Amino acid sequence: MDTFKISQIHFLRKFIEIKDEYNQLVKKRQEAIMKHHLVYYGHEKLRQKADPVTEFDSDLVSLSEAMFKIMKKYNGIGLAAPQIALSKKFVTIDLTSYDKEKLVIVNPEIVWRSEKKGPYDEGCLSIPGIFETVDRPLEVVVNAYNLDGEQIEIKADDILARVLQHEIDHLNGIMFVDHLEEYIRKEYTKELKKIKKMNKQALF
Ligand SMILES: [Zn+2]
Repeated sequence: MDTFKISQIHFLRKFIEIKDEYNQLVKKRQEAIMKHHLVYYGHEKLRQKADPVTEFDSDLVSLSEAMFKIMKKYNGIGLAAPQIALSKKFVTIDLTSYDKEKLVIVNPEIVWRSEKKGPYDEGCLSIPGIFETVDRPLEVVVNAYNLDGEQIEIKADDILARVLQHEIDHLNGIMFVDHLEEYIRKEYTKELKKIKKMNKQALF
């Protein structure tokens, strides 16, 4: 066999190896997407304090991709891991529909809130169909980590400040309806009961 053929075989082998690796990666990511699904108001994971992320590995990258897919499917702009029944301090934000960025935020802490508050209509993928006005600080500063485990500081106002506060609430077991006046929340008793039942349907 001449060297040309040998190098060709080498090339082919390498190509197959890379293809196999790639296929495995795709399969892993598809599995990650398939195994995660939304949970709804009433699910116990939505009321727990999430645990900090300690491993910044490829599983975390797969998780972020799965979460971005779920957000896209349901037209969400933010998703916290407890919303897919994972008690992890992990949040994905997609503000591309507002001409802003996509963000992956790990172990976030709000370190500053503006005194000035403002109203904004909020909704939540875990409470479908309910939208209500919530008052929150208009600006926040958040310390967090990115997917590579590097520390980041986010100075946010406008829609980003809103989404960050909503999602970080999820990591503390708080949902946006908790911020509503009792009499407003009571108006949604029926709807909330129906939403709770969606957790059982999601199992099948
Ligand atoms: Zn939410």
